[in-house]
Amino acid sequence: VIKAIETQYKGYRFRSRLEARWAVFFDALGVRWEYEPEGFDMDGVRYLPDFRVWTPQGEPMWYEIKPGHILSDPKFDRFSLAVQDGEQMQARVALLSGDPHEHLARKWRGTYGGELSNDFCPRCTFIGPAAYSVSEYKEDYMFGCMPCDAETPGGGENDLEPGFAGTMVRPHKGSLIVEWYAYDRVRWLVESAADAARASRFEHGEARAL
Ligand SMILES: [Zn+2]
Repeated sequence: VIKAIETQYKGYRFRSRLEARWAVFFDALGVRWEYEPEGFDMDGVRYLPDFRVWTPQGEPMWYEIKPGHILSDPKFDRFSLAVQDGEQMQARVALLSGDPHEHLARKWRGTYGGELSNDFCPRCTFIGPAAYSVSEYKEDYMFGCMPCDAETPGGGENDLEPGFAGTMVRPHKGSLIVEWYAYDRVRWLVESAADAARASRFEHGEARAL
C-alpha cells in the first residue's frame, strides 16, 4: 500500500510536502492564503482547489499544486474554464507545477509562437501561466498580467497605485508599468521566498493511506 505523508505547517495538515512549501513561499512574501477553504461542484464532479490566495486588492486567486512533471489536470482545466468570465480571461486561476523555483523557471512555446514563461505580477501577485512577459522600456518594465489588464481602463493615463509589498505600479492598457528598481526588488523578494520554500524542513506528519 502506498501512503502519502501528511505535512504539518501553521496548524494545517497538507497532503504533501510540496503543498506545504508553497504555503511557506506565500508566507515569506506576506500574502494571505488559505488551504482548501472551499470545494466546488461542477455538474456532479467535486473539485477542491489547494489554495485560495488573496491579491493586495482583495480578489481571490485559486491555485492547484502538482508535482513538477504534471503540467495539466482535467479537473483543474474544467474548473479554470468554469470560473472564466465569458471570453475575458479575468479569473486568477493557475496550476503550479513543482516548487516555486521550478514553476517560475518554466518556459514553453505559445500557441501563436514565441516563448512564454511563468511570472509573478508586481500588482496583484498572480503567478500566471501565460502572456506574462517583462520587457525593458527606458527606465520602466512593462509587465503583462492578463487579469490586471482586464481591470485596467483604456488608455495610459491611469494613476500610480500600490501593488505587492508597496511596489508602485501604473496600470496601462496592455501592460503594467513598474520602475525597474522596484521590479528588481519584487524579483529579489520572490527569489528569496522560493529559496525559503525549498529549504524548509517540516515536522513528520502522519502517513495516510491513499
Ligand atoms: Zn496582475
